[in-house]
Amino acid sequence: APRTVLISGCSSGIGLELAVQLAHDPKKRYQVVATMRDLGKKETLEAAAGEALGQTLTVAQLDVCSDESVAQCLSCIQGEVDVLVNNAGMGLVGPLEGLSLAAMQNVFDTNFFGAVRLVKAVLPGMKRRRQGHIVVISSVMGLQGVIFNDVYAASKFALEGFFESLAIQLLHISLVEPGPVVTEFEGKLLAQVSTAEFPGTDPDTLHYFRDLYLPASKELFRSVGQSPQDVVQAIVNVISSARPPLRRQTNVRYSPLIMLKTVDSSGSLYVRTTHRLLFRCPRLLNLGLQCLSCGCLPTRVRPR
Ligand code: NAD
Repeated sequence: APRTVLISGCSSGIGLELAVQLAHDPKKRYQVVATMRDLGKKETLEAAAGEALGQTLTVAQLDVCSDESVAQCLSCIQGEVDVLVNNAGMGLVGPLEGLSLAAMQNVFDTNFFGAVRLVKAVLPGMKRRRQGHIVVISSVMGLQGVIFNDVYAASKFALEGFFESLAIQLLHISLVEPGPVVTEFEGKLLAQVSTAEFPGTDPDTLHYFRDLYLPASKELFRSVGQSPQDVVQAIVNVISSARPPLRRQTNVRYSPLIMLKTVDSSGSLYVRTTHRLLFRCPRLLNLGLQCLSCGCLPTRVRPR
């Protein structure tokens, strides 16, 4: 029998692409419940699903921030959820001083507690049946802190700690960790930033954010950003694997930076290297210890 896959956040980006690819599986191994907060946005998904719609793919309403919505959605599913994909998420960038606590809590409610809420709902059934797979779209920012992404990174670190802990109960848990992906995600962030004033932030920090970080971030999406299709291929491999990995990075360009944390457990090497790459290299942005835009190689890591 096909496995029932419930995916959150399918109105756009990775969630939409994943729902469509699984629904078109040539071996018809999946019955996809593609969910979204606002069903008014279902046209793009339905068009992309084509003839799979109503066959191997159904669309359902689900707001991961609402207990009622989660209960309502799960009660409409025939049978049990075999694979849960926690994909719904949002970003938040900017100098911490200028961000409201409410905006930060919204990120945690969506990215972290949204996933927790769904897991709590499907876990008893998975345990009872001694089967099930929980997939989480984390990020490289679940493994490394990134300047001006403090709260977003914290929400992804929270997911990493939560699901690693759960994995020890020997459930199938997989954290997928993409680098930048070319979806609406970046545009939504830039739209937030263009109108935000970041009150209470000193001019130096604002200058670093607007004139150094933002252009570098745009360049990063342009130069090493993956397509949602590439990321989805990695997720499909994880879902179809007989022995799913706990962690799966999708962008090899990030491996060297992430490895700095393993190499030096004090954390200094990672912090100093990224600081140096950001503030010393005139055009910044590295990955792999090589500046992407001008090709310079930082020679050695010096204290700030
Ligand atoms: P996206 O903005 O296209 O998709 C995010 C989806 O989550 C949207 O459809 C949005 O409506 C939905 N969503 C937000 N709040 C919700 C809620 N309360 N209930 C239900 N749905 C909600 O961006 P994406 O790139 O496809 O992001 C998908 C996941 O991938 C996110 O968890 C994101 O953190 C992660 N990710 C993205 C990138 C990137 O660069 N795009 C990189 C690493 C990880």
